[in-house]
Amino acid sequence: MNLGRELVELERFEPVLDALPGPAYLVGGTVRDLLLRRPPRFDVDLAVVGDGAAYAEQLAARLNGHVTTHDRFGTATVHYGSDAHVDVASARTETYAAPGALPDVAPAASIEADLARRDFTVNAIAVSLPDGAVVDPHRGIEHLRDRLVRVLHEQSFVDDPTRIFRAARYEARLGFRMDPKTETLALIAVPQLRGLSGARIREELYAIFAEDDPETVLGRLQALGGADALDVEFGPPGLQPRLRDLSARYGLKEPTWHLGLLSVHAPAGRLDEWKVPRRIADAVEAAHREEPAFRERVAAAETPADVVRAVEDAGPDTPLYALAVADLPALLPYFERLRNVRLELDGDDLAALGLDESPRVGEVLEELRRRKLNGELVSRADELAAARELIAE
Ligand code: ATP
Repeated sequence: MNLGRELVELERFEPVLDALPGPAYLVGGTVRDLLLRRPPRFDVDLAVVGDGAAYAEQLAARLNGHVTTHDRFGTATVHYGSDAHVDVASARTETYAAPGALPDVAPAASIEADLARRDFTVNAIAVSLPDGAVVDPHRGIEHLRDRLVRVLHEQSFVDDPTRIFRAARYEARLGFRMDPKTETLALIAVPQLRGLSGARIREELYAIFAEDDPETVLGRLQALGGADALDVEFGPPGLQPRLRDLSARYGLKEPTWHLGLLSVHAPAGRLDEWKVPRRIADAVEAAHREEPAFRERVAAAETPADVVRAVEDAGPDTPLYALAVADLPALLPYFERLRNVRLELDGDDLAALGLDESPRVGEVLEELRRRKLNGELVSRADELAAARELIAE
């Protein structure tokens, strides 16, 4: 099989093909996506048997680009054109001294040896460049056709339990399924998730939250026992899509990983163990804790100002979370309108009206805001009139 024509369809990749300083292999998700005729999502990854860093320098010189290097394995990014880039790595082998530990890495003598360290057969296909010949030692193409996620060997999930997360992601994203044996191996290895460092778990969860359909991935992990192993719960159902919809509708711009964390119910302090930024961890934990009481308070609010007060007394994620968990009509005006209500007057205006600096300034502004939220004040003139009245009291 030959992928020559498809490669040229990777428009921005064409200059790279013309500039290659020697043999290299296209590897990783891009190969899989090209074979599936899906638009490749991320970067173009090249593997070079030999010195990847030197290869990257030569390639950059030919493309009038530049190189940034990443790690001691010689992974480098070649930047070229206006904002295009390609990643270059030395082909390598990986062996695991202990389950779940990071692997020992050594240069690979062939592309096949590099492919043998990879997670799934559909990700272990290489395309030799520039000719486009496909190297598929693990029957990845057959498994793409059969829509299967399949590990390369029985130890795979034990060596690296993060592959369980990855398998669930590929299943959901590609509409694939683990083959029965792979699924059994995943079930057996699931308890090993406990041994992963917090930071690795966090990175895997963030990768899930970056998927189009994180909820299906989380559901699958739950079914495999992954949530139990991590001692967390995911949900409730429908939460993720609603969080995303609400965030987009109200222009909240929370990153996917932040929205994603709201669907992870973890014991206190767990997000901290995962090295989630403290501010976000606190907000997420508060949202879970406060949501029932917050919901009651908002539902019982008699005025818009009462709604705003409830919001301001709650953690920063609590209102969005409450709205995503279940309808809360009384909260909608907050997101649609009330959160943007600002007084036109400030302390200087009150000073000009004769109110000197004192706690009374805050009280008057607070009362003016309450009236404005409740629709009693519309114009600046209304605010001034009300301010005069309050100062005179
Ligand atoms: P995609 O998510 O679309 O696959 P990608 O190709 O950028 O995108 P990465 O997570 O960067 O995915 O991984 C690149 C390649 O590295 C994978 O296709 C796989 O072959 C290999 N790989 C990544 N993580 C692992 C792992 N934990 N174990 C073995 N191989 C891995």
